[in-house]
Amino acid sequence: MKQFQNFIDGAWVSTQRHFENRNPVDNSVIGRVHEAGRVEVDQAVRAARAALHGPWGSLKLEERVDLLYAVADEINRRFDDFLDAEVADTGKPRSMASHIDIPRGAANFKIFADVIKNVPAEAFEMATPDGGAALNYALRKPRGVIAVVCPWNLPLLLMTWKVGPALACGNTVVVKPSEETPATATLLGEVMNAVGVPKGVYNVVHGLGPDSAGEFLTTHRGVDAITFTGETRTGEAIMGAASKGLRPVSFELGGKNAGIVFADADFDAAVDGIALAAFVNCGQVCLGTERVYVERPIFDKFVAALKLKAEAMKPGVPNDKATGIGPLISKEHQQKVLSYYAKAKADGATIVTGGGVPNMPADLQDGSWIEPTIWTDLPETAAVVREEIFGPCCHIAPFDREDEVVALANDTPYGLCTTVWTENLGRAHRVAGQIDVGIVWINSWFLRDLRTAFGGSKQSGIGREGGVHSLEFYTELRNVCIKYA
Ligand code: NAD
Repeated sequence: MKQFQNFIDGAWVSTQRHFENRNPVDNSVIGRVHEAGRVEVDQAVRAARAALHGPWGSLKLEERVDLLYAVADEINRRFDDFLDAEVADTGKPRSMASHIDIPRGAANFKIFADVIKNVPAEAFEMATPDGGAALNYALRKPRGVIAVVCPWNLPLLLMTWKVGPALACGNTVVVKPSEETPATATLLGEVMNAVGVPKGVYNVVHGLGPDSAGEFLTTHRGVDAITFTGETRTGEAIMGAASKGLRPVSFELGGKNAGIVFADADFDAAVDGIALAAFVNCGQVCLGTERVYVERPIFDKFVAALKLKAEAMKPGVPNDKATGIGPLISKEHQQKVLSYYAKAKADGATIVTGGGVPNMPADLQDGSWIEPTIWTDLPETAAVVREEIFGPCCHIAPFDREDEVVALANDTPYGLCTTVWTENLGRAHRVAGQIDVGIVWINSWFLRDLRTAFGGSKQSGIGREGGVHSLEFYTELRNVCIKYA
């Protein structure tokens, strides 16, 4: 059985407390995870502090950047190891992980190495009261030791989305991967050692959230800033922890994203786009669409077309090329999603398709499988229309007017993203300006240029990451004023 140890100060650290890591395809145990306690978390934070003031802090920018390129290259060299690890942890189709998760994991180091090399300098000359002059210039300094707390849906991709810029800016990190997906964060420790990243720069502590490594890390006063991706409720707990010592946070949280399809949309493209947004990664994408609004003239046709898409998604194991949808992450999450399926039924939904667990072969019946599901005819107050489910499901409602659908889309405490389908350019611009979210996609979904700002408004997040925007969180801006005349 695999052992997932903590990675502290460049060394592997085992502990006496363990928990099991399971494959969601059949619920089999694939590894034993060594849970970090307060002692190990403290060791990791101290190691990160020592590296910050030691070998990492004394590297020249060019040397740091070269190491980040080397990390990206080494991930690519060990591509299959990362792929195997991610697929075993999540059960997601291998084709998806090989096209999205692992390449982006490597790219996140390269892109932020490029960003940090090209940060524009800021300088202002000013007149002084005595008739002389002074020059102000800004220095970007690392924030220090960054706690990186991660979810399980895109484990390597989302972790490196934070570790990449953190290291590029000269910080050191202590990562707490999700308890569901410890593998790729652990493998990254091997990569760091292989390419010669100084010990203590990248540390991994395994564990759960409350009363475990997550809480011990975020409450540790040796941590200078916390970046977190996960549920909004967890974000509230972490913000409470961060308030002690007034430590800055960067949060990427939950969503209840709307997809809006106008009657003038390219119909087939809209169906394909909404199917992807609702069902890919078994619906476990923060940017996913669980609320769909379709203009009335094309409503029935759209529901029928999306039904066909959902029913064409064959559940299956990662290595089967015919697999359209993998399992949910765990039995626990399956129970949560099924409880929403039951609520929809109790609330009187019309179940267009799905609503339960698919029939699977005997050896897979213990997996956390779920049917892609579409509902109609629910009021906007229904639980499945208001709350984030994080499963392969959506409710579709008709609308008649542009202002009506904008109000419907905005009627949520979340504000992560929206996808709008229309061929009317003026309408596209108008709606993009009126929806209160961090990201608007027009006639597309999940297109990401990593130089752009990423993040949510309202209860979907605090701050923006991506390209130079990441510098706001991962650096402190220091002004130097030199009087010279
Ligand atoms: P989660 O909040 O349950 O857990 C995320 C991480 O936080 C895990 O590592 C967990 O161990 C840790 N944690 C839990 N409680 C903690 C506590 N009290 N203190 C410190 N750490 C704690 O989220 P999840 O179930 O892993 O992920 C799914 C959620 O993540 C969904 O809500 C989804 O929308 C969100 N998400 C958001 C984005 C985004 O970019 N906005 C991206 C991916 C996922």
